[in-house]
Formats: sequence, structure tokens, C-alpha cells
Amino acid sequence: MHDTNGSDIIRSISEIVGPKGLLRGDDVSARPNYSWGAGSCPARAIVRPASTEELSRVMALCHAHDQSVVPWGGLTGLVNGITCAPEDIVITLERMQAIETLDAEAGTMTVQAGAILQQVQEAAEQAGWLFAVDFGARGSANIGGMIATNAGGNSVVRYGMTREQVLGLEAVLADGTVISSMNEMLKNNAGYDLKQLFIGSEGTLGIVTRAVLRLRPAPRTVQTAFVALENFQDVAGLLRRLGTEFEGKLSSFEVMWRNHYHYLVEETGKHQAFLPTHYPYYVLLESEGADPERESEQFMAVLGGLMEEGHIADAVITQSGQQAAQLWEMRDDVETLINTISPVAVFDISLPIRAMAGYVSGLEADLKQRFPDARLLSFGHLGDGNIHLGIGPAQDKHAVECLVYERLAGVNGSISAEHGIGLEKREFLHHCRSPAEIKLMQTLKDALDPKHLLNPGKVIQRGQGA
Ligand SMILES: Cc1cc2nc3c(=O)[nH]c(=O)nc-3n(C[C@H](O)[C@H](O)[C@H](O)COP(=O)(O)OP(=O)(O)OC[C@H]3O[C@@H](n4cnc5c(N)ncnc54)[C@H](O)[C@@H]3O)c2cc1C
Repeated sequence: MHDTNGSDIIRSISEIVGPKGLLRGDDVSARPNYSWGAGSCPARAIVRPASTEELSRVMALCHAHDQSVVPWGGLTGLVNGITCAPEDIVITLERMQAIETLDAEAGTMTVQAGAILQQVQEAAEQAGWLFAVDFGARGSANIGGMIATNAGGNSVVRYGMTREQVLGLEAVLADGTVISSMNEMLKNNAGYDLKQLFIGSEGTLGIVTRAVLRLRPAPRTVQTAFVALENFQDVAGLLRRLGTEFEGKLSSFEVMWRNHYHYLVEETGKHQAFLPTHYPYYVLLESEGADPERESEQFMAVLGGLMEEGHIADAVITQSGQQAAQLWEMRDDVETLINTISPVAVFDISLPIRAMAGYVSGLEADLKQRFPDARLLSFGHLGDGNIHLGIGPAQDKHAVECLVYERLAGVNGSISAEHGIGLEKREFLHHCRSPAEIKLMQTLKDALDPKHLLNPGKVIQRGQGA
């Protein structure tokens, strides 16, 4: 939707944000319109406000003129949440990247929402703290985009998702109202916790402009191991045992099914074989602590004991940061998967750990029957009940999606553990959300954005669930 005299609103926006704040023509089409895309964004303009106040005025104008708006962060999201129609304008916070303050006593950091994850991590580290969300797209993902998608990543098993790292935030609503909830305390039960409305709502309820982040004490030492296991029961048992034996210091527990490890190491040749490739399961695990000597001894003793008991079949304990980095490069290498299996359908599901092995083997059998040429690669943040699936070549992506999601409904799983819904998964939302839940989402959307101008059509469609 846009006003009948479309160029008037663009002129008025340009008066608010100035020449640096507005891109048009080729500068717009050079940007992408889909996850993993190159150019071809069809939007009318890209608006780059330099402050919350500018954004608030732009949004008020858009609201008055029925102008739809799509918020952009670092464009690393994987569910087409940033996709625009020709009538939309884009709002990007790429001119709002400041780290405003860091309270080294309290362990809090106040940032503008365009701040890039890696810069936030580095600023925390320099001050002796840890910002505890980390994942492969750290060089581009923004705090605003991470809050909007409630990103998870590699340390959720210890620190929780982005939601757990946000103490407060500021957001601009569809009509330009600024909601400042810049709380700095861990505890604040004074009425509704309004920040939660914006965390994980994928830019459909407001545009996040600033945030107060919670930092964690930086670990002084990290122990890393890559282990092989003979059966899934041992994988689940290992997670449970390490939770206790490492005294709450287990910070990553990433599983790779053989189909994934074997593919990356033997078939693409892109990664070193740290262990033989014939075992059915592999786990990349880490524990973080304060005393290097004690932690190292404890780590070796626990893993050694589990090997003696026969729960771990083989293991490498890394001897250097470089070895650990190589293992993480392999685990985070989604790009090889996307580039070498084409077309690939990528999934981000969660389900109870007890149902995982049966789910994956059942899906593998379904695929073999329906699409004999397709392969399944399975891996993920098992400590969080989250597995990623890469399936391809998936010529009929929709049919593959139906297979994956229908089987998931039977085990009370979720179609999105961490990437969100965007446009890509919207039609499947009913597999894991009840009609009453979808109706309540609709009610929230109608209350905060009655004209449905903010990231229109993402997560839920107007009237869906009515
Ligand atoms: C290699 C790779 C690895 C990844 N690994 C993980 C992982 O382990 N765990 C995980 O959770 N995710 C992972 N992701 C995806 C992850 O969701 C995104 O990387 C990140 O959370 C999105 O941040 P972004 O700034 O790129 O947002 P974008 O992609 O730009 O936007 C994502 C969504 O947020 C909205 N949005 C953006 N900024 C704002 C804002 N300021 N206010 C309101 N709405 C906004 C957009 O409209 C869109 O709907 C990975 C992605 C890649 C490419």
C-alpha cells in the first residue's frame, strides 16, 4: 500500500533524513531481496535514519500515508524476513551502529541496534566481559536483527538465546511512537515486560533502535573436544552426564550425524578428518571455566572416564586455539552445504531429544522413498533440542517441506528453533502453533500495527487464523 502521490512521501522522508539517509534506483536494486541473494531489491527506496528521532518521524509519515515498511539488519536471516515488494520502503539501521556505553562494574552494554555482533563481542572482551551469543554470521548480523529473530547460536546450552541477553530496549512503533524500555536491571516486574513483544517478532510489531545488553563474566579458559559415539542413546546420555560432571560449565554441545561429517570431510574434502568418519554420531563440545589447570584436568578426567565406561567411542581433545577454530569452522560451514548441494532446502527444527533419532531415521526413509536422489545432512545445537537439516537436491522444495513438517507435528516439535518464520515458513505455522495461539498473534499485530504496514505478511498473514 502507498499513497496516491508516491513521490511526495519520498521527498518528505528525504527532508527528514538528508541525502545520506536515502538510497534510490541502482543503489536499491544492488541490494538483495532474499536470504543468500545477490542484487534485485525492488523496494521504492532504502531509508537510513541516523537517530531514533529521525526514524520516529519517518514512521509517523509512513503511517499517515499508508506506506509499508520493511526493517533490515545485517541481512543474514534465513527465512526471507527482509523480502520486499515494489511498493515497500526499507528501513536499515546501518548508520546507527554505535556502542554507546559499557558499564564494566555492572556488566551491561548499551548499543544502537545497527551494531554488528562481532563488534559487540570484541568490545565486551576488551572490558573483560563476554557477550554470550555467537554464531557463524557474527561479522554481519546486527543486534537489532538478532533481537528481532531471538537468535540462538553456539552457546545457548549455557547462556540462553538472545532474549536472555537483553535487559532493555527501545523500539519505534508503526505510527512513530517511541517505546523506551531501556531497563538495566536483571529484575523488573513492574507490569508487562514490554521488551518481550519485540524480541523474536521479526520486525512485525516495532523497529528496535537501541538495547541494553547483559554481559557475562568472561571465561579464562575454554576446553574443546570432538568425540565420536556409537549410538544416539550415548549422545543423549553424554549431554546429561556432562551437565552434571562439568558443574554447569558445559557451553556447547553440537552434534553432527555421520551423513554430515562424512560429507564435509570425505566428499567435499574441505575439512580435516579429526576422527575417522565411520561412526554414526559426533559431538563438538566445550566447557568454559576460570582456572585453566583445574578445568583442563577435570575435562580430561571426565571424558577419559566416559571412554572407559564405553559411552564415548573415540575422542580428540584440542591442544590449541587453532585446532578448536578448525573444528568450529567445520561445524559452522553452512556455505559449503548451500553451494555444493543444489537446490538445497535448509531446516531449523526443534523437538524433544528423546524423539530425535527416530525422527531423523524416519525422515531419511521417507526421503529415500519419495526422492531417491536426495541426501539428508543432519547436525545442530542438540543441547538445545535443535537440529538443522540440509536436504537436496530438492527440486520440489515444497514437497520436501511438507515431509519434514508433517513428521514433526507427530512428535510435538517446532518448525523453527531459532531462525524464525519470515515468509518462508508462514504456511506451516499451524504445524506447531494452535489456532488460539495464531489468533492471539493476530490480535497483537492488530493492536500494535492496525494498518499492517510493518514488515507486511511476515510471520502471519492478515486474517490468518481468523
Ligand atoms: C552462516 C550463518 C549462520 C547462522 N547461524 C545461526 C545460529 O546459529 N543461530 C541463529 O539463531 N541464527 C543463525 N543464523 C541466522 C540468524 O537469524 C541471523 O544471522 C541473525 O539473527 C539476523 O540478524 P540480521 O541483522 O542479519 O537480521 P536480518 O537478516 O537483516 O533480519 C532478520 C529479521 O529481523 C528483522 N529486523 C532486522 N533488524 C530489525 C530491527 N532493528 N528491528 C526490528 N526488526 C528487525 C527483519 O525484518 C527480518 O525479519 C545464521 C545465519 C548465517 C548466514
